Amino acid sequence: MAEVSLAEIECAQVAIAPYVRHTPLIPAPSLSGDQTGVYFKLEILQDTLAFKLRGATNAVLSLTPEERSRGVVAVSTGNHGRGLAYAAGRLGVKAVICMSELVPDNKRQAIRDLGAEVCIHGRSQDEAQVEADRLVAEKGLVMVDPFDDPRVIAGQGTVGLEILADLPDVNSVLVPLSGGGLIAGVAKAVKSTPRPVRVIGITMDQGAAMYESQKAGKPVPVAEHASLADALGGGIGLENRYTFDMTRDYVDDMLLVSEEEIAAAMKHLYWRERLVVEGSGAVGVAAILSGKAEALGAKAVVVLSGRNVDMKRFTEVVTT
Ligand SMILES: *Cc1c(COP(=O)(O)O)cnc(C)c1O
Repeated sequence: MAEVSLAEIECAQVAIAPYVRHTPLIPAPSLSGDQTGVYFKLEILQDTLAFKLRGATNAVLSLTPEERSRGVVAVSTGNHGRGLAYAAGRLGVKAVICMSELVPDNKRQAIRDLGAEVCIHGRSQDEAQVEADRLVAEKGLVMVDPFDDPRVIAGQGTVGLEILADLPDVNSVLVPLSGGGLIAGVAKAVKSTPRPVRVIGITMDQGAAMYESQKAGKPVPVAEHASLADALGGGIGLENRYTFDMTRDYVDDMLLVSEEEIAAAMKHLYWRERLVVEGSGAVGVAAILSGKAEALGAKAVVVLSGRNVDMKRFTEVVTT
């Protein structure tokens, strides 16, 4: 079984500290009651607007000098591509982000603005992946997977170390779940304390790749559906090496939330807590508001993982 060690997460924490924010942990009065005090882990405050900067920065810092000179490549239009572009740019490493022709101009430009080279190839994510694989094979670029990469998992796990440092008596942690890089790292980190800490993964109820895969006992493909939680779409990779095993071994529970519940959570976060959070980042709050998250104990932390949301779309969601 392949997994990332606590020592690797601790090394990542030291390595990325100069580049990545130790984000605040703040009380969430509107979700707290007699039984459970709820806290938000504000990964929305990370540069590039999401936690993915942690794993991307650790991946770039882990390169050998020779790899550094060749550069990194990823297939992503979202928060991983943004994080890797930014991290590589700051560290003086070339980054190429591959995407399909169908990706709109504003998203291409946003990646360029962060300092990366955009390569457009084919009409699907899979075709863009073929081009990225070619850059690895022919130009020696280093592929950085958005979740199934030990350097990335270790970087995301630093969220868990910060939670333990800021709230040592935490009882449960609610983590948005897609490919599982975030939850694998966070679960490994928070399970390092002798006290029991429950780790709960939350994702949308259509196309929940990790949920379906765990149910099947092996990685399975899922159909993609449009969702308010667009950063949670996609498969976990049929050749998954790390996050499937680590989710099976360290995650206590997985919950699914509906589109209506995600919208309600975005509204709640905005109107009651005055926070702008993208759908993917709001699923933990959706699980609490819907009553699906149970037995959270006296202190529960909800990771608000990102705020990279189109503001026109966001305004529609929170005003209807
Ligand atoms: C990528 C992402 C997630 C899911 O992270 P995984 O490591 O793929 O499970 C959650 N929220 C946001 C905002 C993301 O960008």
